[in-house]
Amino acid sequence: MTEQDFIHKRFSLAVRQFSKFFKISLSKMFVHFFHLIKRFAFKFLNLIFSIPKYMRYQPKVMDWNTLHVYGEHECQSSEGGKDLHQYLIGCEKNPGHTQFIPVHLFSLHHLPEDYRDIDLYDMIMAEAQLTVRVDVKIISPNRPQFWPGTEQPYPFFKGRGKKKKRFGSGEIDVYKYVNGHGYDGHGSRHDIDGNPYKGDDHSCPCKQCRESKTPSDVWWVIIVRTATHVVFDAVEARQTSLRLFHDKEDSPTTILNGFQIGNANVSHDKCSLSLVTWDVIGAKLFKMVECLYAKTSRVVLKYRKRSSEKLNFIVSHPHGCSKQVSLGRWVVNEKVSSYNNRYDTTRLTYTTCTCPGSSGASVQCVGVANSHYHSGALSGGRNVSGAGFYSCKNLL
Ligand SMILES: [Zn+2]
Ligand SMILES: [Zn+2]
Repeated sequence: MTEQDFIHKRFSLAVRQFSKFFKISLSKMFVHFFHLIKRFAFKFLNLIFSIPKYMRYQPKVMDWNTLHVYGEHECQSSEGGKDLHQYLIGCEKNPGHTQFIPVHLFSLHHLPEDYRDIDLYDMIMAEAQLTVRVDVKIISPNRPQFWPGTEQPYPFFKGRGKKKKRFGSGEIDVYKYVNGHGYDGHGSRHDIDGNPYKGDDHSCPCKQCRESKTPSDVWWVIIVRTATHVVFDAVEARQTSLRLFHDKEDSPTTILNGFQIGNANVSHDKCSLSLVTWDVIGAKLFKMVECLYAKTSRVVLKYRKRSSEKLNFIVSHPHGCSKQVSLGRWVVNEKVSSYNNRYDTTRLTYTTCTCPGSSGASVQCVGVANSHYHSGALSGGRNVSGAGFYSCKNLL
């Protein structure tokens, strides 16, 4: 063997050994790489499935500019002390008001045939008892020229600072306080954000009790929810009174006033007014609220699987006259934002009848836990709510 042959042999051996080593390494590397990919895929899938469904669901979020581009407000103004019945008779939106049912005549037979259910009927009647006419006497000087973020005129801007009688609708809610601890109609001691209902003191904070040596340790906070374009701010709240139980034209007059402004969200067109009382009206209204909450829970449980049928109802005071029920369907439920892991903030459009005077009325969706207040009428004949809570899990 020549030296050249020897070198050639050694070289071939080295190449064979190298390629054998390389082949093993390559296959090992490939196995290792595949293993890494597999692990990464599993981790990724685990991560995806560990995210709750409501967080994965990302529907279209509304642009603020589309919020109020077409809604025409539905407050009923009263010019020169004109009788409200004249507005009712001369109505151009719903002549004859055939789709409105006077609340004292409302019966099971007015419900669609497959919804003739006593719990639903009771819920509508309980909602009706807590529906009020909202009377406002002044236009706040603080009203803006446009709806936020739009060039859409804001209602009553032109008359700001002036006296002007107008009517809307609203819904009453009540919280009971005992020794400074409050609870709602479900008996829950915490609000939607998990904060406890708590008074500043152990006794009633009303003016009378603050001046008394024996203040009451039980009191009620009466809340009325309506639209911000009905009651805009503290200036208007001071000039607001509620007419309760106005079921028929000859119903006795029950008036509540002395409200303070609570939350007023102009973009969402939703506001609340509050009144503290230790009077018997607090106890009476709280019982009605407990009844409404209980009936709503039953109806949500019974009908949540049929919520896609989109039945809804509104109880309001069209033209500032006596209370009427209207039934219809909601058409679109558009998400405005996520609120928490139980609720989205959405805006509804619906076929359910409303007239001037219906602004601020609660819009109730059958089989859904929601809280929306009527905002206006759209040009195509549909009506629209302000932004409100809608349970994304369809649970109370
Ligand atoms: Zn009308
Ligand atoms: Zn008091």
